[in-house]
Amino acid sequence: MPKVLGIIGGGQLGMMLTEAAKKMSEHISDVVVLDPTENCPAAKVGAKQIVADFKDEKAIIELASRTDILTYDIELGSSDVLKTIESKTEINPSPDTLEIIQDKFFQKSFLSENDIPVTDFVKIDSLLDLEKKIKNFKFPALLKVRRDAYDGRGNFKINSESELKLSFEYFKKKKTFLEKFVDFRMEVSVIAARNTKGGIATFPLVENIHEENILRMTIAPARVSTEISKKANQVAIRTMQVLKGAGVFAIEMFVTKENGILINEIAPRVHNSGHHTLQSSKTSQFEQHLKAILGLELGDTTLLHPTIMYNILGPQGFQGKFKPVTIESENVFLKMYGKTESKPKRKLGHFNVMAKNDNEDISSLLSKVKKLKNSVIIVPAN
Ligand code: ATP
Ligand code: MG
Repeated sequence: MPKVLGIIGGGQLGMMLTEAAKKMSEHISDVVVLDPTENCPAAKVGAKQIVADFKDEKAIIELASRTDILTYDIELGSSDVLKTIESKTEINPSPDTLEIIQDKFFQKSFLSENDIPVTDFVKIDSLLDLEKKIKNFKFPALLKVRRDAYDGRGNFKINSESELKLSFEYFKKKKTFLEKFVDFRMEVSVIAARNTKGGIATFPLVENIHEENILRMTIAPARVSTEISKKANQVAIRTMQVLKGAGVFAIEMFVTKENGILINEIAPRVHNSGHHTLQSSKTSQFEQHLKAILGLELGDTTLLHPTIMYNILGPQGFQGKFKPVTIESENVFLKMYGKTESKPKRKLGHFNVMAKNDNEDISSLLSKVKKLKNSVIIVPAN
């Protein structure tokens, strides 16, 4: 019997999950999302929607009562509420895993207890505590909030002793921890999946380029040696073995100057750095997530051709409705998220530039991206 899928969050990730679900009608008959924005991106592609906050207990219970299997496109849902409905509805990834990942300090402690490499970190309880513990860290160091951070907004780079008080007060009363700054060579990620039967599959390592703390571009495959990509893949697989629950997980990592791998953080969901798979793989990360939570055999993750994903972000200094964006170019795939308003740095869409064959290399793709990004401009609608 096909199942009704529930998703907490109906932004672009929920939208692309809904689109993947529609292609799996023998397994999924309907999709219901919970999202506070009326007519959210997922609703625009045919998901039913409950309009409510992600943490709204009544709404989560309603979502569970209307669906057979529950998942999420953001990690903000209340793990406490999810635990209360776990016996009635199948939830993946599990609320226990969500709880560990939601708190970056718990997450890093969990990884480190399982011998998975992370940078040095320590819990901070007060300004006095910070002043004492910074002595074991060099400058710069990062003070991070433990929960609900995104796009780097929960990170404060402390450059010197004189910034200690400022950094601590910056996060007001929020719980924080201190982290060693990694002078990394590259940021990379692995999109990994585990199905309900325990099968694990990973997509090839990709390289992530951030601008002002927001992902700008993903290069698949990452420009690293086979040895480094093997090492990163092994770290990803070990992580998947210790995490409970099924689904797709994005494992963000640093490649250090010494060619070591450190995990930065894990997202218990499909991820922006996996959008290239919409064209570059037989199985997209969205289809893979659904296969994983439905207990189906995981799909082929081979990278068919090198591909670059470029994010289309709302420009600075403009908020409001914008003109539709189009691209006419061979092997370039534009995906807009159906958002009606642009805001500075808001993710409005992306495009994937795929190589025509394996002889076309990353530098050729990079020059195509350079040209295309100048022609994809967000301008106010009349
Ligand atoms: P996102 O929503 O983009 O995943 P976030 O708010 O959860 O971000 P992090 O992933 O912790 O925050 O950090 C954002 C970026 O800051 C990282 O991608 C990386 O570029 C940089 N960063 C984070 N931690 C460190 C570190 N210990 N050393 C050096 N740079 C770091
Ligand atoms: Mg991050």
